[in-house]
Amino acid sequence: MNKKKILDRFSNLENQFQDLQQDFSLLKTDLVQLVEENHQLAHENHHLRQRLDDLTEVHEPKSKEQEQAVKKAAVGEGYDNLARIYEEGFHICHVYFGTPREEEDCIFCLKFFG
Ligand SMILES: [Zn+2]
Repeated sequence: MNKKKILDRFSNLENQFQDLQQDFSLLKTDLVQLVEENHQLAHENHHLRQRLDDLTEVHEPKSKEQEQAVKKAAVGEGYDNLARIYEEGFHICHVYFGTPREEEDCIFCLKFFG
């Protein structure tokens, strides 16, 4: 039995184990970051949806003419607010709604603007 060989193998395994531990710890940090980011995005999304609901809410109409005017105003208002949310850098499309838009335009969002 070659003691030197066994000791070398042992030392190799020890190194591998340390590497694995390091990888594991890095992965754990990434995972925590991802979970936090996801939580933040979910929160942001919830907030934006609520804001959108508030802004596009149609108030109780009294006559047919008023009803139409209110609907028109609400649609216009909702449209303006969506445009503003888009300008603030968030998606308003159904695909990515509420998530940050980065710098470039989104083709799905642009469909809203005709
Ligand atoms: Zn979009």
